[in-house]
Amino acid sequence: MATLTLKRKLAILSDAAKYDASCASSGSSKRDSMGGKGMGSTDGGMGICHAYAPDGRCISLLKILLTNFCVYDCAYCVNRVSSNTPRARFSVEEVVDLTLGFYRRNYIEGLFLSSGIIRSADYTMESMVRVARTLRETHDFRGYIHLKVIPEASPTLVEQAGLYADRVSINIELPKDDSLAALAPEKDATGIKKAMGAVRVSEEASKEKGRKARPPKFAPAGQSTQMIVGADDATDGAILKRSEGLYGAYRLRRVYYSAFSPIPDSTARLPLARPPLIREHRLYQADWLMRFYGFDRAEIIGETEDLDLTVDPKMAWALRNRGEFPMDVNVADRERLLRVPGRGVRAVDRILDVRRFKRLELADVKRLSRGIEKLKPFLVCADWSPGALTDSAGLPERVRPKQLELF
Ligand code: SF4
Repeated sequence: MATLTLKRKLAILSDAAKYDASCASSGSSKRDSMGGKGMGSTDGGMGICHAYAPDGRCISLLKILLTNFCVYDCAYCVNRVSSNTPRARFSVEEVVDLTLGFYRRNYIEGLFLSSGIIRSADYTMESMVRVARTLRETHDFRGYIHLKVIPEASPTLVEQAGLYADRVSINIELPKDDSLAALAPEKDATGIKKAMGAVRVSEEASKEKGRKARPPKFAPAGQSTQMIVGADDATDGAILKRSEGLYGAYRLRRVYYSAFSPIPDSTARLPLARPPLIREHRLYQADWLMRFYGFDRAEIIGETEDLDLTVDPKMAWALRNRGEFPMDVNVADRERLLRVPGRGVRAVDRILDVRRFKRLELADVKRLSRGIEKLKPFLVCADWSPGALTDSAGLPERVRPKQLELF
């Protein structure tokens, strides 16, 4: 096989990593390296993605695979053993050097490292841990490290991964265990959950208070996972049920939803078209409502098992539950105000602050929230009542966006 340049490897292995959604938004850097060439160049946005740190900061990460060779044959993955995609493999030293080089040029603040499985899960995981250990121990690297954990790797390696990484993630892959068995024959849903459980135990042990000798910090930014949406027939209800279970059982920081991308030469069991991107977006919104707005899954989903793609899930709930409205912004408690469509946590908290000093009028709410026209049918203020508007037959039409920009 011809020897690949580092730049070519970077092109292949950053492109291969783009299917992992654990960096919530990816984007390319427009900056060149000093001479416009060489390993620091980010021409074409190779490998730079943006993710959110636990404190809410947006950080840039070098997002790459150690290798896209893989001995597994997951039908939904372009890197599966039976795919004829171009292959490449970094050495541990190359990943370390790339990370440090990009970091010194201020292109990145950290590394997101995943990998196809070569030789064995342990062999691969050990190489990934070696990258993180070299960065931390040899180069005193203080940047952010996110390591993808291979669930079949030995617990000792998973433990080491957590000691060097800020965040670890184990992909649950698909919402249904039987879909995973059919599409990823070498993967085992029970093993994936067992590995997530082990990560949770290590995380909690490292936080235990009252111990004289506290163990070193394990993955301080917690663990996350990714679920592919639209590769099987799982409904939105089934997807959110899986997420609810994962958040509860393993204390995940995030479940990432990744719309299935059709890949060349795939099996007939996979759909030919990707699901509309708006579905992924609605799932994120629904997930957010479950975690931060006090909604439970059944309320969000309603009776149809699938989210209404034409309107955000909070608005969809409000339209189905018009008996809860209009809500008086000067009286309703925080929990209820959070259920008003179009209002985020920050806007609700500002409303609660301001109303300690005055009775809110429509103009005050307008200053504190966006899209007041769509909110008016759901609100009562000191100088506003929607009258019959809340129950009017034309309300769904009035609040639906005119264009769905994400289809
Ligand atoms: S294990 Fe499966 S999903 Fe992961 S790289 Fe290999 S084929 Fe792709």
